[in-house]
Formats: sequence, structure tokens, C-alpha cells
Amino acid sequence: MAQVHKIPSSYNANSYLIAAKRPILVDVGMHCELALRSIEKIIVPNALEYIVLTHCHYDHTFGALELAEQTGARIVIHKNDADLLSDDHATVSDLFGVSTPSIMPDVILQGGEMLNLGDADLGVIHTPGHTPGSICLYGSKQLFSGDTVFPNGSFGRTDLKGGDLNQLIKSIKLLTTRDVETLYAGHGDVTSKNVNAQIRDSLRFAEQVL
Ligand SMILES: [Zn+2]
Ligand SMILES: [Zn+2]
Repeated sequence: MAQVHKIPSSYNANSYLIAAKRPILVDVGMHCELALRSIEKIIVPNALEYIVLTHCHYDHTFGALELAEQTGARIVIHKNDADLLSDDHATVSDLFGVSTPSIMPDVILQGGEMLNLGDADLGVIHTPGHTPGSICLYGSKQLFSGDTVFPNGSFGRTDLKGGDLNQLIKSIKLLTTRDVETLYAGHGDVTSKNVNAQIRDSLRFAEQVL
């Protein structure tokens, strides 16, 4: 697996640059400039191939349109969240008191695809529950989990528009079938400590809430 760099963002939403032969960014955060300044220290920004959005929420996606314009990267999202990208309520941008930019994705995912990064592959896992079109990316025992699971047995909230706890539990169950060495979540620290057990804890805690 190529090197993964955590890109500073705002509102604590994490963004990750995977510096593969065909580099991709997983989520952007709210400020394009902030992301771009970090990216250009690692790769030539025009080399950025994809901006993969783990879900539609504003704190992960707001900078995507501008960053795509500046780098030429293609915006990728699951079909169930694609239409929600310009919905202020679904993206929760109304909670931030602003209107979301109309982001038109270039690539629509169904789940089950393989993203070819040249020297690495990442599988797309559809993990609805936090939002209808949430996805995780998995390859070489690395999991990019968006807001589906977080470290230490935490998991994404399901009380926002499109959220569904039953679906989230099914999605986390699916993740427990993967062998994960490093978890790159949408919030919190990157962790490589007993990650499979951490994800099993997320499942157990989510089931307790039901
Ligand atoms: Zn979210
Ligand atoms: Zn989030």
C-alpha cells in the first residue's frame, strides 16, 4: 500500500492523501486551500486522480468542488449520496449556517468496485447507516471508514437525515469480516492497535443502542 498522509482539516473531519502512483484524496474537509497547501508538499497537485467522498456531509465535502477545479481531480461518491450533495439539510451545512456548493460528481459508485491506484487497489464497500450512500475503502489491510466506524468502538450517528441504525449495524458487521491492520476514520486518530477488536466493539456498542 502506498503511503497515507493525514491532511489537516477543520471541524476535526479527517482527510487522507494516498500517495500512490495514481494519487487519491479521501474526503476534503471544508477548506480547499488548507487541503491544497498540504497536498502540494507531497505530490504535484495536478497528479491527483480522484477525490473520493466517503459520504455527503458538509464537513467532509465542502472543499471538494474548488479542489477538483484547481487540480483536475475527479469527484467520486456513492449513488445514494450523490443527489444529497447539494441538499443543505442532508449535508448538514444548515447546521453550519451556510449553503452547500452544488457539487456534481464525476464518478458514481454502486459499491463493490475496485479503485486502481496504479501500484495499489482499493475496494469500495457500501456501508449505509450514517448516510444512505456512505462508503468505506479497503485494501492491503487498511480501512478508510468515513463516519461509519471510529476508533475505540465508536460509530457514526444515525439521527441525521438518511441515517438508519439497523443499516449501520449491518454495515459494521460487514466490516468485521475484513482483516484490518490500520483504521483511517473520518474523525479521531489513526490507529493500528487491535483494530479488528475495535471494530467488533463498535458493532457491540451499536447493537446495545438498538
Ligand atoms: Zn458524517
Ligand atoms: Zn463526519
